[in-house]
Amino acid sequence: MSSGTSNSKGDIAANFDAITGRIQETARKWERQATAVDLIAVSKRQPVSAIEAALAHGHRHFGENRVQEAQEKWPDLKSRYTDIELHLIGPLQTNKAKDAVALFDVIQTIDRPKLARILAKEMTAAGRNLPVYIQVNTGKEPQKAGIFPEDADAFITECREDLGLNVIGLMCIPPVEEQPAPHFALLGKIAARNGLTRLSMGMSADFETAVQFGATAVRVGTALFGTRSDP
Ligand SMILES: *Cc1c(COP(=O)(O)O)cnc(C)c1O
Repeated sequence: MSSGTSNSKGDIAANFDAITGRIQETARKWERQATAVDLIAVSKRQPVSAIEAALAHGHRHFGENRVQEAQEKWPDLKSRYTDIELHLIGPLQTNKAKDAVALFDVIQTIDRPKLARILAKEMTAAGRNLPVYIQVNTGKEPQKAGIFPEDADAFITECREDLGLNVIGLMCIPPVEEQPAPHFALLGKIAARNGLTRLSMGMSADFETAVQFGATAVRVGTALFGTRSDP
């Protein structure tokens, strides 16, 4: 696998094979189905040429964290590859909700009641009831998005029953300075008691631990595409 400094086409293809292999190996080790884990390639702040390399290699599931950047990169790619699945994995401002509903296929970052209400309204208006994840701030970090664990059950119920959102799972980003395993385990517990089967968790540094703890989607950027450009 590349050390994260090169974005050449050959490296990107090799990185996809290596990361996919590690996901499958980890799934086998923990007696999970290798196909149960979806690799979301995080292409934020990567050039379109890097995305093209991944598409040429057959990959179709991607994640972006900013609506505006995604609007610049993806409409053309989506018109050429109609089976792309684009996930929003970054915080969403309510004034971008309409644009997000128009462009993305999955929204992973529903983190507060106001956003949930506006997204539900925009989805109805657009006739697009997108699958969504609820983001849980498992570490209760003040600067991080996400509903607190103790508020998650009520919020999940509100999103599903009052707003009619198609909630398919939970997403989290553990605190960088902590062991991720307890956060992944907590997310799994909250999902299980709410009858949710999908867990979006794990990034370049910890996706194998996430697979061990039941991730059904891992969000990997740097390990696939190399170092990102500055924001
Ligand atoms: C950037 C980002 C990732 C990917 O991070 P890497 O460390 O580059 O794999 C995953 N999830 C979210 C929410 C991100 O913003």
